[in-house]
Amino acid sequence: MQAHSRTHALSASSMDALREGIVIISASGAIEWVNASMCQMLGRSADDVVGHSVHEPPWNLESPSVGMLDASECPAALALRGIRQPELTLLLHAAGAPRWVKVRTVAADPFDPARGVTMLVEDLSQLVEAQHGLERALNADPLTGLATRNRILSLVEASLPGGHPETRAQRVGVLHVDLDGFRLINDSFGSTVGDAVLVEVASRLRSVAGHVAEVGRMGVDEFLVLVTTDDPSLAFDATLCELADEIRRSLAVPVRHDGMELHLTASLGAARAPEDASDGPELLAAADRAVRAGRQSGRNQFRFHDVTIDIRNQDRINLDRSLRLATARRELEVYYQPIVQVASGRVCGAEALVRWHHPQRGPVPPGEFIPTAETTGTIGAISDFVLETVGNDIRGWTERGVMSHDSRISVNISASEFNRPDLLDRMDRILRATGTDPSRIELEITESVLLDDLSGAAKRLEEIDRLGMRVAIDDFGTGYSSLSYLHELPLHTLKIDRRFITEVSRGRAGAVTRTILDLARNLGFTAVAEGLEHDHQLEFLARNGCELAQGFLFAPPLPRESFEQHVA
Ligand code: C2E
Ligand code: MG
Ligand code: MG
Repeated sequence: MQAHSRTHALSASSMDALREGIVIISASGAIEWVNASMCQMLGRSADDVVGHSVHEPPWNLESPSVGMLDASECPAALALRGIRQPELTLLLHAAGAPRWVKVRTVAADPFDPARGVTMLVEDLSQLVEAQHGLERALNADPLTGLATRNRILSLVEASLPGGHPETRAQRVGVLHVDLDGFRLINDSFGSTVGDAVLVEVASRLRSVAGHVAEVGRMGVDEFLVLVTTDDPSLAFDATLCELADEIRRSLAVPVRHDGMELHLTASLGAARAPEDASDGPELLAAADRAVRAGRQSGRNQFRFHDVTIDIRNQDRINLDRSLRLATARRELEVYYQPIVQVASGRVCGAEALVRWHHPQRGPVPPGEFIPTAETTGTIGAISDFVLETVGNDIRGWTERGVMSHDSRISVNISASEFNRPDLLDRMDRILRATGTDPSRIELEITESVLLDDLSGAAKRLEEIDRLGMRVAIDDFGTGYSSLSYLHELPLHTLKIDRRFITEVSRGRAGAVTRTILDLARNLGFTAVAEGLEHDHQLEFLARNGCELAQGFLFAPPLPRESFEQHVA
């Protein structure tokens, strides 16, 4: 630092205090100065680093997509040649353990790259490790070690015609295995015995099917076996039948536990692609329907999926017709479920949840009509109605002092809606017409939206961000496994799925919840726990620094007037 004035010395000491690593590089590529954070990341002293050339740098960089980078591809070397690059996430190898870093370069003089450059290096290791840990937790079922539902679903999708050329197969079949009467075992002998039974069933499935298929756990007592083949001569249905028989035989051997002998049976259903379904969720749903169809004639059955099961889907057409009328007749209503600050118990917002008062059937829950509305497009009219109602209510509440100016209302947006090109225009129009401040609205989307088309979704999220609305990932943790995109997108909130909160006091769900909370903190996101029903869950969340929560413990979704009373 020869010939540096006092201001330089001052700024050097403040740069030393920064968490970001800083490397100042001369026009010839010589490293002139590094700050303390950079030295720490490299595991070397400043004396050790200063004087090296960035054309032969005292570190190596690796890109997840490209592999090891040449010294000439070092971002600083490129910047010296006047080549601009976006921010890059890279693996930094130096004296210590490798670290994930984000690298940016800025020219000392933006008009003249030949004046040297500064490299800014941000350590993302903690964040990336938290993401990897969570991905691992989400891919393997903690109790049985089998693949989780997410994992199996992504394997199914990878093997279908839309999947990667290396993973897709000509024939794909799934066997859904659902234990009969498992609940009785759990209720009569307790969950320790229940867990032991599940572990034993998992191990039998693995030994019967593991060498030819992937085995996963789909629910408490539901398992899935995924079989794929490229062999056209193989009688595929016969293979599935044989496997189903073998599974039933292996489950017929009583499970011994603590001197007891437990007799199990299971109901099995099979579905195949392309015959029964064209995408993963459809294929799993078809196998599930086959199980339920078999159960109608008793336990211990095996059925193939049969198209006649789907005939009752004709009902959907009638359902949609009355739904369209409902929207016009104002049979829809928006309920509000309070969102509460964990630390203070204060209501600081709500989630808007639609309800349908059917003239004959009474209240119909959204789970029954939203999926149909999504496939027929009626969802558009429903969303418009919800946003308009929410906009008007926010204005009324603010004028009457029911809710403070910083409170927020969450609105659910279906995946099929999110991809519609007119969504932004429609929302913008409604926000203007109702005089709603966009920052008072948070849109809830599911992870699947991001997975279908990440770059399309990223653009869409930027537009929403520009409009001024916030975005939450709903049911977080139940979606797909890749989370590496999270810190790149303008997102604000993670809503931790009810499944984890329900079991939060059981080891692994608690660990996943804690990891999600860490991840949210690292990303600067707000965390909301969903489906809180018990005090011990609230205590867990308070202890682990979860900011917001929502659930029956505070209040169910309420009609407008009751919500106002609740807040008051
Ligand atoms: P979601 O967005 O995850 O909403 C939370 C659901 O959990 C709500 O069900 C809520 O009533 C329920 N819930 C809240 N607290 C608890 C609790 O403590 N215990 C339990 N067991 N459940 C709790 P709801 O209202 O039946 O809505 C179901 C789903 O329907 C929503 O899931 C959302 O995905 C969808 N939905 C609801 N309203 C709309 C809407 O206006 N537009 C769209 N596109 N989807 C909607
Ligand atoms: Mg929601
Ligand atoms: Mg949710």
